[in-house]
Amino acid sequence: VVRCNSNGGVEDAGLRDERLVKTDALIETVRAWVAKAQRVVVLSGAGISTESGIPDFRGPQGVWTRDPEAEKLSDIRYYMADTEIRKKAWQQRLVHPAWEAQPNAGHEAIAALERRGKLHALITQNIDGLHQKAGNSPERVIEVHGTVLKVVCMSCGWKGPMQETLVRLLTGEDDPPCTLCGGILKSDTISFGQNLVPEVIERAMRSAAEADCFISVGTSLQVYPIAGAVSEAKAAGARVVIVNAEPTPFDNIADAVLREPIGKTLPRIF
Ligand code: NAD
Repeated sequence: VVRCNSNGGVEDAGLRDERLVKTDALIETVRAWVAKAQRVVVLSGAGISTESGIPDFRGPQGVWTRDPEAEKLSDIRYYMADTEIRKKAWQQRLVHPAWEAQPNAGHEAIAALERRGKLHALITQNIDGLHQKAGNSPERVIEVHGTVLKVVCMSCGWKGPMQETLVRLLTGEDDPPCTLCGGILKSDTISFGQNLVPEVIERAMRSAAEADCFISVGTSLQVYPIAGAVSEAKAAGARVVIVNAEPTPFDNIADAVLREPIGKTLPRIF
């Protein structure tokens, strides 16, 4: 395992130069792995979108790091039981940074990797739609935690565009029910306590096992089962690279760990 870390705090100029040389060399190594690979699989998390202005959950400026109570809004038990939580959740949806956000250099680098014909699959825990906005084809993106661009009825399963529900909020409804059956509406994302979609997870795990190079980007790798995709890829023989500002529980099985800003690193390795 080779590690490079830009979070070194105070360091003298000599050490900094040495670190930069090591980082450059490691980036060059990973770039060569990608150049040789035929089936790159990328697993992305909230960290890839922080440079687009969407905060992550567990990073230093994360939504939950700053307000642990906010976790309740992402818990299906509170959401289904309490209309006040739903009203608060809808108000947050109304001002969600995803509506204004644009893809950044990290997203664009993955779209460029697909144009090179190397991207086998893009597994994302993100719900913000920025990979598709950057140009990745929808059929290559596996959204394991759903999307904020749609709403779903928790009773009849109806799905529709988020924008229509946002308009209902703006015209005075604070907890808009399903127009077909009156059931509780929710963004089409997977909250804590909610079942994942088995076929989507199976597809993600299968893709991970088919990778010859697996790159985990901007995720703390604490959410299961998808964090297990890293070991799945490793066990199947892929090179594993982790690009994340903070340590993850999988750093010890990675072939390379780059603790560098994603927007600067992905354009170089892809
Ligand atoms: P996380 O918040 O647990 O971890 C994000 C990681 O990214 C942190 O370790 C942080 O240090 C790192 N990071 C942040 N910005 C970075 C940068 N510019 N360069 C390098 N590293 C950076 O995120 P997670 O593992 O994806 O889990 C959070 C869950 O919340 C996911 O399931 C996801 O569905 C959801 N979520 C999604 C979004 C989104 O769609 N943009 C935003 C917040 C949360």
